[in-house]
Amino acid sequence: MHSNNQIIIFDTTLRDGEQSPGATMSPEQKIAIARSLDEMGVDVIEAGFAIASEGDFKCIEAIAKVVKNAQVCSLSRAIKKDIEAAGRAIQSAFQPRIHTFISTSEIHMQHQLKMSQDQVLAAIDESVRYACQFCDDVEWSAMDATRSEIGFLCQAIEIAISAGARTINVPDTVGYVFPQEYAGMIRAIKNRVPNIDQAIISVHCHNDLGFATANSLAAIEAGARQIECTINGIGERAGNAALEEIIMAIKTRQDVMPYQTHIDSTKIMAISKQVSASTGFAVQKNKAIVGANAFAHESGIHQDGVLKARETYEIMRPESIGLDCSELPMGKHSGRAAFRMKLQALAIQSNEIEFENMFARFKAMGDRQKYVSDQEIASLAVARGGNAS
Ligand SMILES: [Zn+2]
Repeated sequence: MHSNNQIIIFDTTLRDGEQSPGATMSPEQKIAIARSLDEMGVDVIEAGFAIASEGDFKCIEAIAKVVKNAQVCSLSRAIKKDIEAAGRAIQSAFQPRIHTFISTSEIHMQHQLKMSQDQVLAAIDESVRYACQFCDDVEWSAMDATRSEIGFLCQAIEIAISAGARTINVPDTVGYVFPQEYAGMIRAIKNRVPNIDQAIISVHCHNDLGFATANSLAAIEAGARQIECTINGIGERAGNAALEEIIMAIKTRQDVMPYQTHIDSTKIMAISKQVSASTGFAVQKNKAIVGANAFAHESGIHQDGVLKARETYEIMRPESIGLDCSELPMGKHSGRAAFRMKLQALAIQSNEIEFENMFARFKAMGDRQKYVSDQEIASLAVARGGNAS
């Protein structure tokens, strides 16, 4: 039974994430990532788009066989042959899911689908009913939901639920919506769709304006209970909501977000590195949660504080995402407290005069270069004829 504060984490690293230009992964890499997602406690793994290619189909089939706990899902358009391919690819999964979609915005219906509102509503009914013949668990998405007319969107959702959809996804396909606006939209759906209590509302946010995580969390507060996200936030264009940001926001701010997930957050760092290595997409240094600098403190005031009590400048423990400890990169902003600790860590002993002398030379070095390495600090001791051991 789905408890009211349990959030379903739907990972689409292998589908939307792989749609990042240049992020194509080999089937072996995708299967390995699916195993890691399963081990970290993801509830639903979107393994690919079965109709996209023979390779995608085979890869979804292989993932369906190796995943032990999570549901395995394939995406499909509202087209029979797509739904059939999705249904066949996931049939050996322990818990299969078909995710079918069609656009509901005027701009997409007119220019891309070239279909009227009535034709779209008929296609929703037909495609969801057809998908239900292949598996019990069908998710339906209103593509470009956030630019759709709310009355029509509510009508479309009601039809999808009547046809058998258990999850209704309201994607911000183009990364357009603002958090308060999105929350209002989810509330309107809850108020206006008569059979909405028979389905779970899902969100899928893109980061074009930098709101993917904020929008996902605003939707949760408004009543959504599934979040679609990716590791490192990869995905079409500016990417999707990042799984690690969603998880750590909920974990860190239980006072304002009293929700639970099944994710083991200590596996975040390892899977972030695995996805980065598999896609060839480096994680930006200042990326929230998983960036190289996310737990690194350089300024003297911050380093001094962290050395005295980590809570002074750390809102999360590095161990909670699977990092050993936070880093104190040594550079021109570092103060005496951090320098003294570094000397201790390197087993360099000094009296006060030697210490001040080395600290002055360390600062001069920091002025000339970005960072001063452990080796360079050790060389300061050797230069003064000290006893680095
Ligand atoms: Zn997307």
